[in-house]
Amino acid sequence: MGKQQEVMLYDDGHHRCISFTGLVQGEGIQSNQFLILHGAHAAVIDPGGELTYVPLTMALSRYVKPEELDLILASHQDPDIISALGHWVKRTPARVAISRLWSRFIPHLASAFAQSRSGGNIFDRILPIDDQGGRIPLGDSYIQAVPAHFLHSVGNFQFYDPVSRILFSGDMGASVVEDVSGPVEDFTRHVPHMEGFHQRYMAGNRACKLWADMVRELDVDKLVPQHGPCFVGEQVGRFLDWVSQLQCGLDLMSEADYRPSERRLG
Ligand code: FE
Repeated sequence: MGKQQEVMLYDDGHHRCISFTGLVQGEGIQSNQFLILHGAHAAVIDPGGELTYVPLTMALSRYVKPEELDLILASHQDPDIISALGHWVKRTPARVAISRLWSRFIPHLASAFAQSRSGGNIFDRILPIDDQGGRIPLGDSYIQAVPAHFLHSVGNFQFYDPVSRILFSGDMGASVVEDVSGPVEDFTRHVPHMEGFHQRYMAGNRACKLWADMVRELDVDKLVPQHGPCFVGEQVGRFLDWVSQLQCGLDLMSEADYRPSERRLG
């Protein structure tokens, strides 16, 4: 796994977006965590689970105190996204924004908090996002939760920051590569690093195309996935074109994929 790195994705003095990479040591999949600072307000995107909790809190502490964290934005419900929820709700006052489809499931990740007398009601800390998404206030700005359902989770959101014009795209655009420090430069050579993942994890071309058409209408300077390098400028358009025509998920499934196999496991 790569070494720990911080990348300043945007900085105008008042508003900053920072990517933390290489926090996962060992066998877990490489992932990027994100901090948005807007004046005295702060939001973390997809903070992850046990593998990233301690290194991420140490990295964040250079920018924001735990008690100053306003928001945790979760694209979906997976282990690499939000499984350290219990720690976050105990150590910070942040509200947790997640699809309404998952908002009644994720308290399972925070049982100690849910059961503690001092902890209060976990549901008071969760901001359920309806399917159409919307604008989540952050100081005098906001973060737009944009629908990305079935890409890959059934209730899936991405987070667009109108100040930096960054779309934090979750698993869309994700890849597994050694060096995640710079943006994608050679799109054609990058495709093999993301093709298999998108073919199996994304639910189908219809969702990909609807999503890409929506993103073209947003003013996106950087498309920043949770795994692997980001796409900047014209590479954003190249990714949208590529994924618009991608056959994936149910498009590729046939009878052959739904048969009881006699293969011995383990
Ligand atoms: Fe996931």
